[in-house]
Amino acid sequence: MMRRRTWLYLWLVLALGLVTAGCDNPLEIDRDTEISIGRDGARQLEAKYGVVNDPAAQKRLDIIGHRIASVTNEPDLPWTFKILNTKELNALALPGGFIYVTKGMMDYLKNDDQLAGILGHEATHVVHHHAKAAIEKAMTQNLLVELVTQRSSESIRKAASITLDLEMRQGYREKEYEADHYGTLFAFEAGYRADGLRQVLEMLYQKEGDPKRVTWLLQSHPPLSKRIARLDEYIQQLTGRKPR
Ligand SMILES: [Zn+2]
Repeated sequence: MMRRRTWLYLWLVLALGLVTAGCDNPLEIDRDTEISIGRDGARQLEAKYGVVNDPAAQKRLDIIGHRIASVTNEPDLPWTFKILNTKELNALALPGGFIYVTKGMMDYLKNDDQLAGILGHEATHVVHHHAKAAIEKAMTQNLLVELVTQRSSESIRKAASITLDLEMRQGYREKEYEADHYGTLFAFEAGYRADGLRQVLEMLYQKEGDPKRVTWLLQSHPPLSKRIARLDEYIQQLTGRKPR
């Protein structure tokens, strides 16, 4: 005998199938589910690295972060900005607006324009829903149905792990140009210099060349030098001036 919950579940799957028949993407992850996935990922990440308790640095991050968030098309997400306790030079965004900058990166940056550029880049991954496509691709059909219809904790945790998995993140490396482009636009619209992100990429390029390894911000492909060249063109369009 099937239990009532199982029947209900089967009906839901069937109903969902009927409702969405003919759609390109019948099992689309909605916004609330994205936020739950982001929250779970945030917990995993914070448990792994710990969060820096530095009120001055946190205040600076919050002010710049929320200025960036307010010029995106989704200002009402539960935007959160935190500093991860690691010396690594990095930044990361989780679905739903949970953004992390490492302590190493906070110390490395020379000015607010650079931080605004990084946060703009990460905010773009959020509002263009780059992780969602990766999750939908990586999950088995059954688990995706479970995620979309039931939001079970297991399916949420699995989706969160996918967003934190560097190998998976390679899947949206081609989104890096897009994140650089809109990140620069968001920073500029929020009142910062248009070349903040470019400055950071240039500093990283001077330091490491085009990195081979894939990390969150420094995806190995496209190479930093190409990202910088593309930004040069875009910044000139945006401001009418060549970046220095
Ligand atoms: Zn990125």
